[in-house]
Amino acid sequence: MIVGIDAGGTLIKVAYTKKGEVHFEKYPIAEIEQVADWVNNLGDCKVCVTGGRSGVLVSLLDQPAQEMVEFEATHLGVQVLLEKNGTLEDAYLVTNVGTGTSIHCIQDNMQERLGGTGVGGGTLIGLSHLLTGVTRYDEIVGLASKGSRDRLDLKVKDIYEDKEPPISGELTASNFGQNLFAISDGLTKEELLAAVIGLVGETVSTVSVQAARQCRSSTIVYIGSSFIDNPLLKEVVTSYTILRGSVPVFPDNGEFSGAMGAMTAL
Ligand code: ATP
Ligand code: MG
Repeated sequence: MIVGIDAGGTLIKVAYTKKGEVHFEKYPIAEIEQVADWVNNLGDCKVCVTGGRSGVLVSLLDQPAQEMVEFEATHLGVQVLLEKNGTLEDAYLVTNVGTGTSIHCIQDNMQERLGGTGVGGGTLIGLSHLLTGVTRYDEIVGLASKGSRDRLDLKVKDIYEDKEPPISGELTASNFGQNLFAISDGLTKEELLAAVIGLVGETVSTVSVQAARQCRSSTIVYIGSSFIDNPLLKEVVTSYTILRGSVPVFPDNGEFSGAMGAMTAL
């Protein structure tokens, strides 16, 4: 059996082949010892580990494991997933919305990190919890998808009240920028959570579209577990990316790119 593991800041992603088929699993980082036990009990296998917590995982393994730089593993994994989808291009950007967000340009078969932002999946969970008390990721994204951010976000057209704005009036002028002092007690969890996802999605896509100017391509491949069961984040990122002239792509199993790349390297 060959096993690729991406131990990130929040989740451990595992890709492995069994009887010729690829399987994917994910675990919270708190279960890193259980993941190590699982590997230690596999018997004859090859393992490659990547991600920020790979050193911790390797120290828990009984057998030696190959280690791979996270960005290289992700690049390789994205390539494999896009090839499977039949959508692999010569050049593209990869935006990995993990705990934090990292942006890469892939061209001439090389990856270069263009930048990132600390606004990512960790922000999504952390701010959501502080604003509403909700703890579970699935509950956060479920409630958010039922909410509207109209009462929280200030649009360009709200500022240019009786005038034609110089840019699209539909763009967000200020996330959480409405006069909230007057209505803060009456906002629902759904509205607050939708506004958090709006903030994360618009930040991530705005930074990505700007980074695309340093890359030959305007295709942006969005990956990372922050998109799992999160249609609202996908919708915000899709519409903002298209509005700014780029093309968003969400590959199937994109959150397993790092694990897939690590497995493929073996
Ligand atoms: P990094 O790459 O920044 O080190 P990571 O690899 O752990 O972090 P991902 O697994 O890509 O990051 O994404 C983590 C994010 O995915 C969380 O911050 C959260 O928003 C979201 N998420 C999706 N499913 C879950 C879950 N079951 N539990 C917690 N967070 C989840
Ligand atoms: Mg990661």
